[in-house]
Formats: sequence, C-alpha cells, structure tokens
Amino acid sequence: MKLAVLPGDGIGPEIVAQAVKVLEVLNKDGMKIEMEHAPIGGAGYDAAKDPLPEATLKLARAADAVLLGAVGGPRYDALDRPLRPERGLLRIRKELNLFANLRPALLYPELAGASSLKPEVVAGLDIMIVRELTGDVYFGQPRGIEVRNGERVGFNTMIYSESEVRRVAHVAFGIAMKRGKKLCSVEKANVLECSELWKEVVAEVAKDYPEVELSSMYVDNAAMQLVRNPKQFDVIVTGNIFGDILSDQASMLSGSIGMLPSASLDENNKGMYEPIHGSAPDIAGKDIANPLATILSVAMMYRYTFADMATADRIENAVKKVIAQGYRTGDIYTDGCKKVSCSQMGDAVVAAM
Ligand code: NAD
Repeated sequence: MKLAVLPGDGIGPEIVAQAVKVLEVLNKDGMKIEMEHAPIGGAGYDAAKDPLPEATLKLARAADAVLLGAVGGPRYDALDRPLRPERGLLRIRKELNLFANLRPALLYPELAGASSLKPEVVAGLDIMIVRELTGDVYFGQPRGIEVRNGERVGFNTMIYSESEVRRVAHVAFGIAMKRGKKLCSVEKANVLECSELWKEVVAEVAKDYPEVELSSMYVDNAAMQLVRNPKQFDVIVTGNIFGDILSDQASMLSGSIGMLPSASLDENNKGMYEPIHGSAPDIAGKDIANPLATILSVAMMYRYTFADMATADRIENAVKKVIAQGYRTGDIYTDGCKKVSCSQMGDAVVAAM
C-alpha cells in the first residue's frame, strides 16, 4: 500500500509523526506500507511557491491513500488568495474528486466532562456525518459580486445534480449498513428546490437499502436536535454548506477538536485522511498538541480505503486504552490524569497496540 504523507504546517508535522509511529508498528507486523512525504499548504509554498506543488499532487494521485496533518499559519495570511495554504487543501480535494466527507462525532466515556453539554446528553455519543464535499453553493455557477440598479449585489448558486446526490447517498447508506442502520437526510426542502431534489433522490436510493431506516429533517431542526438530543442520530447525510456547519457543531459535542478524525473519499474509496482541526499555530513546535485525531484518521484509512476492519479496530482500541489509562494531552486534561506531551501520547498508543 502506497501512502502519501503530507504533514503541512504548524502542528501538522508533530501530529503526523505520531501517526507514522503507528504505521511503523503495522509495518513491523508485516503490513508493507510504503510512505512518501511531500509538502502542502504553507510548506508547499515555501518549497515550490505553490500550496499544492505539482509533485505533491502527482504523489497523491499515485498513492492508495493520503494522510494529511493541517495547513495554514499567520506567516501566509498576507499572500494572494490562490497562493494561500487553504487553497492547496481545497484543490487537492477537488483534483482527487473526494466528494464524500466522513466526520464521526464520538465521545469517549472518560471525556464526557470535556463536552460543553451535560454528560447525560452526550455520554455514549457516536454519530457519523457524511457531508457532500465538491458541489453545492461553494462551487455553483454563476457566482460573484456585481452592480445592479446602482447597488452592489452578491450572489451564489446552490446546485446539485441527481448523480451528485445519488453517489453521496450510496456512500451514506453503505456506512449506515455497517453501523446502526439509521440514516437521516438533512436539507431545507420546505424552501429550496435544490433540497427538494436532494430529498427525492435520497428516497430513491433508499430502495436499494431496505434494511436502513431513512428519515429526513430540515437543517434548522437538525441544528437544534444536535444539541437537544444528539444521540437520536446514527448517520446523517447532507450537502456541502449544511454539512460544513453541522459537522463543526457536532465536533464540539465531543469535547476537544484534537480527538476527531475525518475521511474524504472518492468513488473508489480512495481517500484523504486528516484531523478536523487546523494547524494550531498557537501551540506549534511545543510538542503539546493532541495527536489522537491524526492517529484515529489512520484507523479510518484502514476501515474505509483498505477495508481492513481488524487493523482499524486495533488502532481505535489502542486509543481507547490510553484514554482509559488516564493519559491526556493538555487540551483534554482534567485533574488526576497523567499529562503527556504529543510524542509521549504517540508512544503510549504504540505501547497499547
Ligand atoms: P485550529 O483548529 O488550528 O485551532 C483552534 C484551537 O484549537 C486552537 O486554540 C488550537 O491550539 C486548538 N487545537 C487545534 N488542534 C489541536 C490539537 N491537535 N491539540 C490541541 N489543541 C488543538 O483553528 P484556527 O486557529 O482557527 O486556525 C489556525 C490555522 O489553521 C489557520 O491558518 C486556518 O486557516 C487553518 N485551518 C486549517 C484546517 C485544515 O488544514 N484542515 C482546518 C481549519 C483551519
């Protein structure tokens, strides 16, 4: 298996180094993972004046999967927009056609106190949000700002084709089949034609998955239900903009942004795996970042791209074990636990494996 490793900026290299330790354990056990590192984001700009250098894209295309740290930092904020680190990230997602973004929101029982909601509301939380990633109002044409009737107007186009909805719906139903067999499609069909079509197409796809219980919910209600009673959800499928907002909201249910992995998949389950957090420039270079989201991203890689559930379970169980043993980086630390650095947390996971 060929893996493109793109550490990126800020804490990216520190957290990715811990994930690489985990991969090295798997290699020692005979996995044969070939890893090649390349720059992206600000590091790409520094190396080749491009946040997604040609060589990095070539490597990512040739690889079976991509592991990414995070991109961005104040050093690059003054660059022209096309040269900014975040553009490299958007481009690689688009170039690799990674249309399905999977974001679990899972709460480890020992971390219930770290959530902003009452422990009884979030204890045992385990949701998967499937967000469409390459369409919707973020990419729809026409878009722009222009003068009409003597004043400026800004406009974007919310647009989905049947085929775009169908392919992400299949991914979501497939995931629901492997979990609790419940799927909630989130849209705004009472107001938007685009959502009306979304809802119809998802209902058509549902016929291929008779075992999955499908429901639909308006996005405003879904935002409310996610904080009122989040455990009612198993898998949620939604469009790009609704998913952007809801998945960030759901991530905070579980306490720390440093715990949550993500996957972005194409039609053949090739994927890019990355923590949901950014490059955290405020703590970069201090060896204090939480590497668990990145390590859990490797587990997702085994589950979704390599279809190796046993290895995915092995990594996830090792993370559960270090949490149960009381190891905590600063972001999830509470009194009485063992405070560890980023690299010590990586070592603890390796030991638990
Ligand atoms: P951020 O996610 O980097 O940080 C938000 C807060 O969470 C910070 O206080 C940070 O210290 C903390 N944090 C984040 N990850 C952590 C971890 N693993 N362990 C412990 N604490 C952690 O978001 P931001 O500060 O808004 O953005 C910083 C930079 O990251 C910006 O340049 C932004 O554009 C970029 N960004 C990149 C991505 C990505 O690469 N996918 C995502 C979001 C933001």
